[in-house]
Amino acid sequence: MATPSDAVHVRAPGKINVFLEVGDVQDDGYHEVATAYQAVSIYEELWASPADGITVAVSGAIDLDEVPTDDRNLAVRAARLLAHATGVREGVHLEIRKSVPVAGGMGGGSADAAAALVACDALWETGLSTAELLRLAARLGADVPFALLGGTAVGTGRGDEVSSALARGRFDWVLVPSDEGMSTPVVYRELDAHRERHLADIGRAPRRPAVDPGVLHALRQGDAGMLAASLRNDLQAPALHLRPDLAAVLETGERSGALAGIVSGSGPTLAFLAPDEAAALDLRVSLSGAGLHAMHVHGPVPGARLI
Ligand code: ATP
Repeated sequence: MATPSDAVHVRAPGKINVFLEVGDVQDDGYHEVATAYQAVSIYEELWASPADGITVAVSGAIDLDEVPTDDRNLAVRAARLLAHATGVREGVHLEIRKSVPVAGGMGGGSADAAAALVACDALWETGLSTAELLRLAARLGADVPFALLGGTAVGTGRGDEVSSALARGRFDWVLVPSDEGMSTPVVYRELDAHRERHLADIGRAPRRPAVDPGVLHALRQGDAGMLAASLRNDLQAPALHLRPDLAAVLETGERSGALAGIVSGSGPTLAFLAPDEAAALDLRVSLSGAGLHAMHVHGPVPGARLI
Protein backbone atom coordinates (compact mmCIF):
# COMPACT_ATOMS: atom_id res chain seq x y z
CA MET A 1 0.00 0.00 0.00
CA ALA A 2 1.35 3.43 -0.87
CA THR A 3 1.72 5.73 2.11
CA PRO A 4 1.71 9.21 0.58
CA SER A 5 4.54 11.36 1.91
CA ASP A 6 2.31 14.46 2.14
CA ALA A 7 -0.27 12.55 4.22
CA VAL A 8 -0.99 13.06 7.89
CA HIS A 9 0.01 9.88 9.74
CA VAL A 10 -1.70 8.79 12.98
CA ARG A 11 -1.20 5.69 15.11
CA ALA A 12 -3.91 4.40 17.48
CA PRO A 13 -3.76 1.44 19.89
CA GLY A 14 -5.97 -1.55 20.55
CA LYS A 15 -7.28 -2.10 24.09
CA ILE A 16 -7.85 -4.73 26.72
CA ASN A 17 -10.60 -4.35 29.33
CA VAL A 18 -8.91 -5.43 32.55
CA PHE A 19 -12.27 -5.04 34.31
CA LEU A 20 -15.73 -4.99 32.76
CA GLU A 21 -18.91 -5.09 34.78
CA VAL A 22 -22.17 -4.99 32.85
CA GLY A 23 -25.41 -3.63 34.29
CA ASP A 24 -28.96 -4.51 33.31
CA VAL A 25 -30.13 -4.12 29.75
CA GLN A 26 -31.76 -0.69 29.28
CA ASP A 27 -35.01 0.01 27.44
CA ASP A 28 -33.05 0.99 24.32
CA GLY A 29 -31.19 -2.35 24.35
CA TYR A 30 -27.89 -0.89 25.55
CA HIS A 31 -26.16 -1.74 28.83
CA GLU A 32 -24.56 0.50 31.36
CA VAL A 33 -21.00 -0.69 32.04
CA ALA A 34 -18.11 0.10 34.34
CA THR A 35 -14.78 -0.76 32.82
CA ALA A 36 -11.04 -0.25 33.24
CA TYR A 37 -9.29 0.00 29.88
CA GLN A 38 -5.62 -0.46 29.12
CA ALA A 39 -4.24 0.57 25.72
CA VAL A 40 -1.70 -1.97 24.45
CA SER A 41 1.08 -1.93 21.88
CA ILE A 42 -0.83 -3.29 18.90
CA TYR A 43 -1.54 -0.42 16.54
CA GLU A 44 -3.75 0.72 13.72
CA GLU A 45 -1.88 3.03 11.32
CA LEU A 46 -3.86 5.62 9.39
CA TRP A 47 -2.78 8.11 6.70
CA ALA A 48 -5.07 10.97 5.66
CA SER A 49 -4.48 12.87 2.42
CA PRO A 50 -6.47 15.56 0.58
CA ALA A 51 -9.05 14.17 -1.85
CA ASP A 52 -12.45 14.83 -3.38
CA GLY A 53 -15.06 13.17 -1.19
CA ILE A 54 -14.36 10.91 1.77
CA THR A 55 -12.94 7.48 0.90
CA VAL A 56 -11.04 4.68 2.61
CA ALA A 57 -8.72 1.81 1.67
CA VAL A 58 -7.83 -0.90 4.17
CA SER A 59 -4.85 -3.24 4.24
CA GLY A 60 -3.11 -5.43 6.81
CA ALA A 61 -1.83 -8.91 7.48
CA ILE A 62 -5.10 -9.95 9.16
CA ASP A 63 -8.44 -11.11 7.78
CA LEU A 64 -10.12 -8.02 6.34
CA ASP A 65 -13.24 -9.67 4.88
CA GLU A 66 -15.56 -8.14 7.46
CA VAL A 67 -14.17 -4.59 7.22
CA PRO A 68 -16.44 -2.32 5.17
CA THR A 69 -14.74 0.12 2.78
CA ASP A 70 -17.80 2.31 2.26
CA ASP A 71 -19.66 4.78 4.46
CA ARG A 72 -20.13 2.08 7.13
CA ASN A 73 -16.41 2.13 7.91
CA LEU A 74 -15.99 3.74 11.32
CA ALA A 75 -13.07 5.88 10.10
CA VAL A 76 -15.21 7.27 7.26
CA ARG A 77 -18.02 7.94 9.73
CA ALA A 78 -15.54 9.77 11.96
CA ALA A 79 -14.28 11.96 9.10
CA ARG A 80 -17.85 12.76 8.02
CA LEU A 81 -18.88 13.63 11.58
CA LEU A 82 -15.88 15.94 12.02
CA ALA A 83 -16.55 17.65 8.65
CA HIS A 84 -20.21 18.09 9.55
CA ALA A 85 -19.47 19.39 13.06
CA THR A 86 -16.90 21.94 11.86
CA GLY A 87 -18.45 22.94 8.53
CA VAL A 88 -15.44 21.69 6.56
CA ARG A 89 -16.20 21.08 2.87
CA GLU A 90 -12.88 19.42 1.97
CA GLY A 91 -12.55 15.71 1.34
CA VAL A 92 -10.04 13.16 2.56
CA HIS A 93 -8.68 9.80 1.48
CA LEU A 94 -7.92 7.51 4.44
CA GLU A 95 -5.46 4.61 4.18
CA ILE A 96 -5.68 2.23 7.12
CA ARG A 97 -3.16 -0.49 7.88
CA LYS A 98 -4.84 -2.79 10.39
CA SER A 99 -3.09 -4.96 12.98
CA VAL A 100 -5.83 -5.21 15.62
CA PRO A 101 -7.90 -8.39 15.03
CA VAL A 102 -11.25 -7.60 13.37
CA ALA A 103 -14.28 -8.20 15.62
CA GLY A 104 -11.78 -9.44 18.21
CA GLY A 105 -12.90 -7.47 21.27
CA MET A 106 -9.87 -5.17 21.10
CA GLY A 107 -11.54 -2.07 19.70
CA GLY A 108 -9.84 -2.01 16.28
CA GLY A 109 -12.65 -0.16 14.51
CA SER A 110 -12.81 2.30 17.40
CA ALA A 111 -9.05 2.90 17.08
CA ASP A 112 -9.55 3.63 13.36
CA ALA A 113 -12.30 6.14 14.18
CA ALA A 114 -10.15 7.88 16.80
CA ALA A 115 -7.21 7.96 14.37
CA ALA A 116 -9.43 9.48 11.66
CA LEU A 117 -10.63 12.23 14.04
CA VAL A 118 -7.05 13.17 14.97
CA ALA A 119 -5.79 12.95 11.36
CA CYS A 120 -8.63 14.97 9.82
CA ASP A 121 -8.43 17.58 12.59
CA ALA A 122 -4.76 18.06 11.61
CA LEU A 123 -5.31 17.86 7.83
CA TRP A 124 -8.25 20.29 7.82
CA GLU A 125 -6.69 22.47 10.54
CA THR A 126 -9.97 22.41 12.49
CA GLY A 127 -8.04 22.82 15.74
CA LEU A 128 -10.56 21.10 18.02
CA SER A 129 -9.72 20.72 21.70
CA THR A 130 -9.34 17.27 23.25
CA ALA A 131 -12.69 17.76 25.00
CA GLU A 132 -14.40 18.52 21.68
CA LEU A 133 -12.78 15.51 20.00
CA LEU A 134 -13.87 13.31 22.92
CA ARG A 135 -17.47 14.52 22.51
CA LEU A 136 -17.46 13.61 18.80
CA ALA A 137 -15.77 10.29 19.62
CA ALA A 138 -18.56 9.34 22.04
CA ARG A 139 -21.10 9.78 19.21
CA LEU A 140 -19.22 7.22 17.09
CA GLY A 141 -19.04 4.35 19.57
CA ALA A 142 -18.51 3.40 23.19
CA ASP A 143 -14.80 2.57 22.82
CA VAL A 144 -13.81 5.52 20.59
CA PRO A 145 -13.18 8.09 23.39
CA PHE A 146 -10.78 5.65 25.06
CA ALA A 147 -8.89 5.08 21.80
CA LEU A 148 -8.32 8.88 21.74
CA LEU A 149 -7.26 9.02 25.37
CA GLY A 150 -5.17 5.84 25.59
CA GLY A 151 -3.10 4.88 28.62
CA THR A 152 -5.22 3.50 31.43
CA ALA A 153 -8.73 4.80 32.01
CA VAL A 154 -12.04 4.12 33.65
CA GLY A 155 -15.09 4.08 31.38
CA THR A 156 -18.67 4.46 32.63
CA GLY A 157 -22.04 5.04 30.99
CA ARG A 158 -21.72 2.88 27.89
CA GLY A 159 -17.95 2.94 28.37
CA ASP A 160 -17.80 6.29 26.58
CA GLU A 161 -17.52 8.51 29.67
CA VAL A 162 -13.80 8.12 30.18
CA SER A 163 -11.39 9.49 32.72
CA SER A 164 -7.70 8.68 32.94
CA ALA A 165 -6.57 6.45 35.79
CA LEU A 166 -3.19 6.41 37.45
CA ALA A 167 -0.98 3.49 36.47
CA ARG A 168 2.63 2.78 37.25
CA GLY A 169 5.11 0.66 35.31
CA ARG A 170 4.25 -1.64 32.46
CA PHE A 171 2.18 -4.77 32.10
CA ASP A 172 3.19 -7.55 29.71
CA TRP A 173 0.45 -9.46 27.90
CA VAL A 174 0.32 -12.28 25.40
CA LEU A 175 -2.63 -12.08 23.02
CA VAL A 176 -4.16 -15.08 21.30
CA PRO A 177 -6.48 -13.90 18.52
CA SER A 178 -9.06 -16.17 16.87
CA ASP A 179 -9.49 -16.92 13.19
CA GLU A 180 -13.15 -16.06 13.47
CA GLY A 181 -14.45 -12.80 14.96
CA MET A 182 -17.42 -12.43 17.27
CA SER A 183 -20.23 -9.87 17.14
CA THR A 184 -20.38 -7.64 20.24
CA PRO A 185 -24.24 -7.39 20.21
CA VAL A 186 -24.54 -11.19 20.00
CA VAL A 187 -22.32 -11.59 23.09
CA TYR A 188 -24.41 -9.03 25.03
CA ARG A 189 -27.60 -10.85 24.00
CA GLU A 190 -26.08 -14.12 25.24
CA LEU A 191 -25.30 -12.41 28.58
CA ASP A 192 -28.92 -11.20 28.86
CA ALA A 193 -30.24 -14.67 28.03
CA HIS A 194 -27.88 -16.24 30.56
CA ARG A 195 -28.98 -13.80 33.29
CA GLU A 196 -32.61 -14.46 32.44
CA ARG A 197 -32.06 -18.22 32.78
CA HIS A 198 -30.16 -17.95 36.06
CA LEU A 199 -32.04 -15.09 37.65
CA ALA A 200 -33.04 -17.29 40.61
CA ASP A 201 -29.42 -18.33 41.38
CA ILE A 202 -27.52 -15.12 40.78
CA GLY A 203 -30.12 -12.47 41.55
CA ARG A 204 -30.34 -9.27 39.54
CA ALA A 205 -27.39 -7.78 37.75
CA PRO A 206 -26.08 -4.70 39.59
CA ARG A 207 -28.02 -1.64 38.52
CA ARG A 208 -25.06 0.68 38.92
CA PRO A 209 -21.94 -1.16 37.84
CA ALA A 210 -18.69 0.14 39.35
CA VAL A 211 -15.01 -0.59 38.87
CA ASP A 212 -13.54 -2.68 41.69
CA PRO A 213 -11.14 -0.48 43.70
CA GLY A 214 -8.78 -3.50 43.85
CA VAL A 215 -8.18 -3.23 40.09
CA LEU A 216 -7.40 0.47 40.33
CA HIS A 217 -5.05 -0.20 43.24
CA ALA A 218 -3.20 -2.92 41.27
CA LEU A 219 -2.85 -0.56 38.27
CA ARG A 220 -1.55 2.23 40.53
CA GLN A 221 0.97 -0.16 42.11
CA GLY A 222 2.07 -1.55 38.72
CA ASP A 223 1.64 -4.97 40.33
CA ALA A 224 0.91 -7.68 37.75
CA GLY A 225 0.19 -10.34 40.39
CA MET A 226 -2.37 -8.13 42.09
CA LEU A 227 -3.94 -7.17 38.75
CA ALA A 228 -4.14 -10.85 37.73
CA ALA A 229 -6.12 -11.58 40.90
CA SER A 230 -8.65 -8.84 40.17
CA LEU A 231 -9.18 -9.24 36.40
CA ARG A 232 -12.89 -9.56 35.66
CA ASN A 233 -15.02 -9.54 32.54
CA ASP A 234 -18.79 -10.10 32.69
CA LEU A 235 -18.73 -10.86 28.95
CA GLN A 236 -16.35 -13.79 29.45
CA ALA A 237 -19.01 -16.38 30.42
CA PRO A 238 -21.30 -15.60 27.45
CA ALA A 239 -18.29 -15.45 25.09
CA LEU A 240 -17.15 -18.89 26.30
CA HIS A 241 -20.69 -20.19 25.96
CA LEU A 242 -20.68 -19.12 22.32
CA ARG A 243 -17.11 -20.34 21.77
CA PRO A 244 -16.51 -23.31 24.14
CA ASP A 245 -13.17 -24.06 22.41
CA LEU A 246 -11.67 -20.94 24.03
CA ALA A 247 -11.83 -22.47 27.54
CA ALA A 248 -9.09 -24.99 26.65
CA VAL A 249 -6.88 -22.17 25.31
CA LEU A 250 -7.37 -20.21 28.54
CA GLU A 251 -6.25 -23.30 30.47
CA THR A 252 -3.22 -23.82 28.22
CA GLY A 253 -2.09 -20.23 28.81
CA GLU A 254 -2.54 -20.47 32.56
CA ARG A 255 -0.60 -23.77 32.61
CA SER A 256 2.19 -22.21 30.52
CA GLY A 257 3.17 -19.43 32.92
CA ALA A 258 0.44 -16.78 32.63
CA LEU A 259 -0.65 -15.21 35.91
CA ALA A 260 -4.18 -15.18 34.51
CA GLY A 261 -6.03 -15.22 31.22
CA ILE A 262 -9.13 -13.24 30.27
CA VAL A 263 -11.41 -12.80 27.29
CA SER A 264 -10.69 -9.34 25.85
CA GLY A 265 -13.87 -7.22 25.74
CA SER A 266 -16.56 -9.19 23.90
CA GLY A 267 -13.92 -11.65 22.63
CA PRO A 268 -12.84 -13.86 21.09
CA THR A 269 -9.24 -12.58 21.54
CA LEU A 270 -7.71 -13.95 24.76
CA ALA A 271 -5.28 -11.85 26.80
CA PHE A 272 -2.80 -13.51 29.17
CA LEU A 273 -1.09 -11.41 31.81
CA ALA A 274 2.56 -12.34 32.40
CA PRO A 275 4.67 -11.54 35.49
CA ASP A 276 7.21 -9.57 33.40
CA GLU A 277 8.62 -9.12 29.90
CA ALA A 278 10.89 -12.21 29.98
CA ALA A 279 8.01 -14.40 31.18
CA ALA A 280 5.79 -12.99 28.41
CA LEU A 281 8.39 -13.91 25.78
CA ASP A 282 8.53 -17.47 27.20
CA LEU A 283 4.75 -17.68 27.29
CA ARG A 284 4.49 -16.53 23.67
CA VAL A 285 6.97 -19.24 22.64
CA SER A 286 5.05 -21.91 24.61
CA LEU A 287 1.71 -20.92 23.09
CA SER A 288 3.20 -20.77 19.58
CA GLY A 289 4.67 -24.23 20.25
CA ALA A 290 1.15 -25.41 21.09
CA GLY A 291 0.11 -24.30 17.59
CA LEU A 292 -1.58 -21.06 18.65
CA HIS A 293 -1.07 -17.64 17.11
CA ALA A 294 0.36 -15.63 20.01
CA MET A 295 1.60 -12.02 20.20
CA HIS A 296 3.48 -10.25 22.98
CA VAL A 297 2.28 -6.70 23.70
CA HIS A 298 2.60 -4.30 26.61
CA GLY A 299 0.58 -1.52 28.13
CA PRO A 300 -0.26 1.16 28.90
CA VAL A 301 0.60 3.06 25.69
CA PRO A 302 -0.65 6.46 24.44
CA GLY A 303 -3.91 6.99 22.55
CA ALA A 304 -4.33 8.13 18.92
CA ARG A 305 -1.51 10.53 18.05
CA LEU A 306 0.23 12.15 15.12
CA ILE A 307 3.45 10.46 14.04
P1 ATP B 1 -15.34 -3.62 20.25
O1 ATP B 1 -14.42 -4.37 21.15
O2 ATP B 1 -15.09 -2.15 20.21
O3 ATP B 1 -16.78 -3.96 20.40
P2 ATP B 1 -14.26 -5.24 18.18
O4 ATP B 1 -12.82 -4.97 18.41
O5 ATP B 1 -14.81 -6.54 18.67
O6 ATP B 1 -15.06 -4.05 18.75
P3 ATP B 1 -14.02 -4.22 15.52
O7 ATP B 1 -12.88 -4.86 14.82
O8 ATP B 1 -13.81 -2.85 16.03
O9 ATP B 1 -14.56 -5.18 16.64
O10 ATP B 1 -15.24 -4.18 14.48
C1 ATP B 1 -16.50 -4.76 14.65
C2 ATP B 1 -17.31 -4.61 13.35
O11 ATP B 1 -17.36 -3.23 12.96
C3 ATP B 1 -16.67 -5.32 12.18
O12 ATP B 1 -17.17 -6.62 12.05
C4 ATP B 1 -17.04 -4.46 10.98
O13 ATP B 1 -18.17 -4.92 10.34
C5 ATP B 1 -17.35 -3.07 11.54
N1 ATP B 1 -16.34 -2.03 11.17
C6 ATP B 1 -16.61 -0.78 10.78
N2 ATP B 1 -15.49 -0.07 10.57
C7 ATP B 1 -14.45 -0.87 10.85
C8 ATP B 1 -13.05 -0.70 10.85
N3 ATP B 1 -12.46 0.45 10.48
N4 ATP B 1 -12.29 -1.74 11.24
C9 ATP B 1 -12.89 -2.90 11.63
N5 ATP B 1 -14.21 -3.12 11.63
C10 ATP B 1 -15.00 -2.12 11.25
